[in-house]
Amino acid sequence: MTKASTSAVSFRQVSRHYGEVRAADNVSFDIEDGEFFAMLGPSGSGKTTCLRLIAGFEQPTSGDILIHGKSVAGVPPYERDVNTVFQDYALFPHMNVADNVAYGPMIRGEPKAQRLREAEEMLRMVALEGLGARKPNQLSGGQRQRVALARALINKPSLLLLDEPLGALDLKLREQMQVELKAIQRRVGITFIYVTHDQGEALGMSDRVAVFNRGRIEQIGSPADVYEHPASAFVAGFVGVSNILTGAAARSIAGAPAAFSIRPEKITLVAGGEEAPPPGACVARGKIDSLLYLGSSTRFNVALEGGGELTVIEQNRSGGARGGAEMQGRPVLLWWRRDHMQGMVESSSA
Ligand code: ADP
Ligand code: MG
Repeated sequence: MTKASTSAVSFRQVSRHYGEVRAADNVSFDIEDGEFFAMLGPSGSGKTTCLRLIAGFEQPTSGDILIHGKSVAGVPPYERDVNTVFQDYALFPHMNVADNVAYGPMIRGEPKAQRLREAEEMLRMVALEGLGARKPNQLSGGQRQRVALARALINKPSLLLLDEPLGALDLKLREQMQVELKAIQRRVGITFIYVTHDQGEALGMSDRVAVFNRGRIEQIGSPADVYEHPASAFVAGFVGVSNILTGAAARSIAGAPAAFSIRPEKITLVAGGEEAPPPGACVARGKIDSLLYLGSSTRFNVALEGGGELTVIEQNRSGGARGGAEMQGRPVLLWWRRDHMQGMVESSSA
């Protein structure tokens, strides 16, 4: 028996040009049904363009987009089984919360009692039970965001597109909403396509991440994949903090690739009588150039004897953090495991 494994969304060599600007440049990917898929990249890298192409607000200049295995060329947004949640929520200010949530069913002509019952159910799902009579301006930012989510979910779309939906919230609330959004997605089982420029958000919430740069995807993979094995210098630098050594600096380290990245938390700093590096480890000598005591950790910048600089992040596990000014200028030895280095390829961004 053959299992019909149709992707929720497929991009086949899709480009969208605006004059000279290649907002999306030959983009191909598949998103599986029920997946939480993040599009991550800096501002202007083409994330929103790709989302608008899926929603049908834009048409590709070339290439083909399939939703559930069918090409959607020429299919208008309202005939696609897709809903979008925008960063600014776009709630109707004059309607109360319940009517906002029940908007989709109202447009479809559902009787009032039925659609308000559904709205109440959706409000319960996003933990806003009982707030249906309020107006949007009587809610907090996080509550408004959840109303926008409920208003999309009530339509039971097979695909939910979210464009930086937490961008307007402060950090604490954003982190709380990240956890809630992910839990809601698991509960409803709808495919979420989530656009963000925040790498922490993308890593924490998604099943897979596509890293965008200048209209192209540089890498697609699980959060751990993208973080531990960045495919390019751009990905290593954009997703998390990374050290990249090339040229003479890389050559001066025995056993290292010609160009590589290494994460700061993978490096051990030996400043005094600590244990020697294990056999087979990569070793570099240098001097502490600057350091920053961050409470839970200390961040050292070490100038290497062979040229280049490495950032080291050391967790403050013992309580006796080595963050004092007396560390400044100290000669140190750094070591890390060979398999923690990631060889680099040329990136499209220099
Ligand atoms: P992101 O969402 O990653 O910040 P966008 O997809 O919004 O990026 O934009 C990608 C590029 O396309 C940017 O250079 C942007 O200025 C350009 N762009 C987007 N929409 C239009 C448009 N309607 N007209 C011209 N240029 C556009
Ligand atoms: Mg955008």
